[in-house]
Amino acid sequence: MATSTVFVSGANGFIAQHIIKQLIAKGYNVIGSVRTAEKGDALKKNLNSDKFQYAIVRDIQVEGAFNEVFKNHPEITIVLHTASPLSFVVTDFEKDLLIPAVDGTKNALNAVIEFAPQVTNVVVTSSCASIYTLSKEKDASVTFDESSWNEITWEQAKENALTAYIGSKTFAEKAAWDIMETKKPHFTLTTVNPMYVFGPQAFNSEVKDTLNASAEIINNIIKLKSTDDVPALAASFVDVRDVAAAHIVAFENKQAASKRLLLSSSTFSSQGILEVLNENFSTLKGKLPVGKPGTSKEDTDKLARFNNDATRKILGFEFIDLKKCIIDSVEQVLAVKGKI
Ligand code: NDP
Repeated sequence: MATSTVFVSGANGFIAQHIIKQLIAKGYNVIGSVRTAEKGDALKKNLNSDKFQYAIVRDIQVEGAFNEVFKNHPEITIVLHTASPLSFVVTDFEKDLLIPAVDGTKNALNAVIEFAPQVTNVVVTSSCASIYTLSKEKDASVTFDESSWNEITWEQAKENALTAYIGSKTFAEKAAWDIMETKKPHFTLTTVNPMYVFGPQAFNSEVKDTLNASAEIINNIIKLKSTDDVPALAASFVDVRDVAAAHIVAFENKQAASKRLLLSSSTFSSQGILEVLNENFSTLKGKLPVGKPGTSKEDTDKLARFNNDATRKILGFEFIDLKKCIIDSVEQVLAVKGKI
């Protein structure tokens, strides 16, 4: 069993809760940062483990935000920086998304450089958003891989909430690699770059009417009526449990040092998700749109390709497939709502 202490920023987030659950199961001690004691207490109650404690970091973008955590916890040897704003309901794109993401990442890495000489590995949760360029997303002749970089500029990123989120992840990841290049710190960096992250919540108490941005895509599909149009969405996904496992491989496997791990299980479309739901949930039958069964491939064939062979080799596990991911997510929601 592992006994090192891992710091996880944004500990109450959808992905981070799964990471912490898996870390504790493997024997790691975990210190997670949350914005308020209320969020920390709720997470501690769910985890029900003396291997978890929380620290308050109210706002990652404030200079020195993480300094106290590292001053107070010289036992931390691994840092997983997951915290970053993920919302498309924002008013000021630069202030609400771009700046907190970039400054939060710089603050985390700079605090490790200044106050945590014992840290060996830093893992930053980046995104497929820093890999693919939006204008090429629907160009089937393009293939993105771990070496691809989004070509978005800061000015383009300020255009709307979507471009701002995409830009926030791109510029935050760039800031992390820049620090590695210019400051040559004592730790290795790995980034985890997931596609759309679906899957169940780590705890049933997290099943709220509205879920975090990506899980809400599935939640919205089960809120549709049979007469509604099928939402026009096709992209690639990865299950949250695999995203969590990849964060652990990112520091446990030496092959992952200085790498970007592109996490993609397969493509999906709203049509394909509806087919899984209509075939597997008798309680939903007749309540959801049927669309045009069998046409999902027509939507996904139009997309740019993602090649993550190099990542799969490092990870050494098979990704959870769409059917299992959707069934597990929706079973949980329906069970919590007493609809199954
Ligand atoms: P969540 O919204 O569930 O979690 C985000 C976490 O970051 C929360 O703990 C949130 O705290 C914290 N946070 C955000 N802004 C601040 C801030 N200014 N100060 C302090 N804490 C802050 O999102 P996910 O779990 O889905 O995402 C986690 C990471 O994964 C993010 O970096 C995201 O960009 C990345 N990612 C997610 C994908 C997805 O499909 N979900 C895909 C690719 C990458 P609070 O809850 O208190 O606001």
